[in-house]
Amino acid sequence: MEIENLTKDIRENAIAKMEKRSAKELAASWSGEDILYSGKGNAIYMVLPTSGCAWAVSESGGCSMCSYVADSPLEDVPSEELIDIFKDRFSRFDITEKTAVKIFVSGSFLNPVEIPPSVRNEILGILKNEELVEEVVVESRPEFITETVLKECCEALGDKIFEIGIGLETSNDYTREKKINKGFTREDFEKAVEAIKNSELKCDVRAKAYLFVKPILTSEKDAIEEAISSAFYAESAGASRISFCPATIHKDTLMELLWKKGSYQPPWIWSVMEIIQRVRSEVKIPIIMDTAGFGSSRGPYNCKKCNSKLKAMIIESNLNQSLPETIECECKSKWQAEVDYSNITRSTTRISRKK
Ligand code: SF4
Ligand SMILES: [Zn+2]
Repeated sequence: MEIENLTKDIRENAIAKMEKRSAKELAASWSGEDILYSGKGNAIYMVLPTSGCAWAVSESGGCSMCSYVADSPLEDVPSEELIDIFKDRFSRFDITEKTAVKIFVSGSFLNPVEIPPSVRNEILGILKNEELVEEVVVESRPEFITETVLKECCEALGDKIFEIGIGLETSNDYTREKKINKGFTREDFEKAVEAIKNSELKCDVRAKAYLFVKPILTSEKDAIEEAISSAFYAESAGASRISFCPATIHKDTLMELLWKKGSYQPPWIWSVMEIIQRVRSEVKIPIIMDTAGFGSSRGPYNCKKCNSKLKAMIIESNLNQSLPETIECECKSKWQAEVDYSNITRSTTRISRKK
């Protein structure tokens, strides 16, 4: 309850001072090399602005690390406008090789309140007719993933891969509820994966688990161990892919408040490397490590000498699904000391780094 009150207060203040922007202004798209289920290929990324994540704008106040609600016009976007934005953005790309289309709505693509079913089905229908599009990737909270909705999506999309990313964040229900304020349990996640894996469906629906590295009130050592055990859990629960999101400090979140007070620091990049090394050798499904914000003051950080090199190695390791090589840097001993002592001091921040 405590965390809900805090996130709600922070969210309400953030919304009150948010500069209003139209859906068109908030839309974004870009493309780049990515790893598909069938190997290296191209990906088109698209941000479609909707009325906002229903969880974030509810009485819950949303998740403690997320400010995606700031990417929303916070009012209903008419269906025709959403479809026009999608068509306009999609037409900007020449598709010349196998491609994944990744649609981000800063919330749940499968929530009918955020994306009306007619819009969802029209978008999927357009992608169905694109020969080189192999995968369509969306995100949704588990409560919107039902067999009925999936059946509709499959009818619209045909036999392409339809991947649904679920923000499981961690396998630990206590962390998810009390530190992240996510509002769903492992059981909810398992039910959604079960619906996704239902053999009655004709199309190829797959579940991706998003795992968050270092929630608030978590020591460096615990962050590493929890991320690794969460990956084992996600695989055993039936996820087809894992995407780790190491913490970056979003504006107007509880995480930012704690960071400003010196009570939270994003993970070291060394911790992220440790997670990849250990998980890649044992987990069989593809694993992506997001590198957004690496080396910046609000993101995972080692030292100026090794930040960029390690980031490049992780990107390479994502594309090849290979184990990154081990390198050394003088900052590694500071990280090691922090991992060794963080559980003794219960520290969730680091003394050696200045903002
Ligand atoms: S992490 Fe997902 S569910 Fe949580 S507030 Fe952000 S968009 Fe909503
Ligand atoms: Zn270094």
